[in-house]
Amino acid sequence: MNQKIAILGAGMVGVSCALELQRRGFDVTLFDRTAPGRETSYGNAGVIARSSLVPFNNPTLWKSLPTLLKNNSASFRYDPLFMAKNLPWALRFLSKTRQRTFEETTTALDSLIRLSAGEHRRLMIEAGTAHRCRDSGWIFLYRSEQAFAGSQLSRNTFEKFGIATQVLDAGGIAELEPGLNPIFPRGLWIKDASSVDSPGKVVEAYAKLFVSRGGAIRQAKITGITKLASGSWHLTQSDGATHETAHAVLALGPWTREFAAQTLGLSVPMAFERGYHMHYDAIGDAALTRPVYDTGGAYVMSPMEQGLRLSTGVQLTARDAPPNLVQLDLAERAARQAFPLADRRQAEPWLGSRPTLPDSRPIIDACPGHPGLWLAFGHQHIGFSTGPGTASLLGAMIAGEKCQVDPTPFRAGRFL
Ligand SMILES: Cc1cc2nc3c(=O)[nH]c(=O)nc-3n(C[C@H](O)[C@H](O)[C@H](O)COP(=O)(O)OP(=O)(O)OC[C@H]3O[C@@H](n4cnc5c(N)ncnc54)[C@H](O)[C@@H]3O)c2cc1C
Repeated sequence: MNQKIAILGAGMVGVSCALELQRRGFDVTLFDRTAPGRETSYGNAGVIARSSLVPFNNPTLWKSLPTLLKNNSASFRYDPLFMAKNLPWALRFLSKTRQRTFEETTTALDSLIRLSAGEHRRLMIEAGTAHRCRDSGWIFLYRSEQAFAGSQLSRNTFEKFGIATQVLDAGGIAELEPGLNPIFPRGLWIKDASSVDSPGKVVEAYAKLFVSRGGAIRQAKITGITKLASGSWHLTQSDGATHETAHAVLALGPWTREFAAQTLGLSVPMAFERGYHMHYDAIGDAALTRPVYDTGGAYVMSPMEQGLRLSTGVQLTARDAPPNLVQLDLAERAARQAFPLADRRQAEPWLGSRPTLPDSRPIIDACPGHPGLWLAFGHQHIGFSTGPGTASLLGAMIAGEKCQVDPTPFRAGRFL
């Protein structure tokens, strides 16, 4: 019984945890109400980048706040009612913009991202999915010299952490991505980055690897989790079936807040940074070979198996609020200036929520006061990248071993 572990949630985080704990000899069952990798871990931009260590709540946020609060930009929108209801979260988020916190967070995220990149590489090979991964980096595009100058904090941070980049002029951008229209005077090529052509299929391949090694996946919605007198955890499914386990891992991404409140009475300070995506054909033989981030247009365009995927910036709103397509429309308009995009490939856009804690770091830890319960959530904009590193940390904690990187910045005690 001691070796039995249930993982709740089969996104990139949960599936990675399942594989890691299985590798460590545990008897693992993975639960999800849908098939693995169908939610947030499906719809993201597929970028695995050393550069994704600069959080949204960095010291420059104060300068842009008056503009952002006008609530009309493509990069950031908010639902005033959601903000009012989540004011304590918003104030805590803003309080984490101090220089010292920024340094702690970037150091922590850098270690997690680096650890994850190596683990992804190993898992992609073992899962036979390495062909989906490109190691050609990604490009930040700037619509003016002034916009490029405004990225100084990010560039300093990349330099501090030894992240390989190259500043590009219009000619350099055209050499790397001739399909782009010549509207960007500056670019920054992040060389220390890779990307995949189908994040959902990568999660699926990891899940298949887990099953091929003897792991069990149960497609079931978990509605309850209680501690038995024996010390075990008792899970209840929506169909009434139950499961007993020594350890349980909460890896429910944006659903963790609601689940933890309803079943355990835990108050998780999580907000939802919603994003949308849409796929497009290219006109003629125009092509993109790697993801690009149009900083002025506030979208990422990634070449995917399903076409060119346009992903939007942030809409802070309730997880299940009805869609608001303003940002996608603005992003599409900007993207059409940058690239010869043809028609939309889907009738409806995809939407999903980046699950964000106030200091932009995930919680990877034991749950305080609940022995045998483990936490792995809050991966904001980088959960596709950092699932495998999260699993490495959590696996070492559960096995009582030393973690490969300092786990202190990810402790639950920050908030719980
Ligand atoms: C537009 C957009 C672009 C992004 N781009 C990138 C990127 O380029 N690179 C990057 O690293 N990250 C990116 N992200 C962030 C990344 O997608 C997330 O951080 C990550 O997918 C979170 O993974 P997860 O496993 O925690 O959650 P999820 O993938 O959401 O998995 C949670 C799972 O829990 C299941 N579940 C929920 N409730 C229950 C229940 N009661 N019982 C059973 N199962 C349940 C769900 O079905 C789901 O499968 C992006 C996000 C968005 C929205």
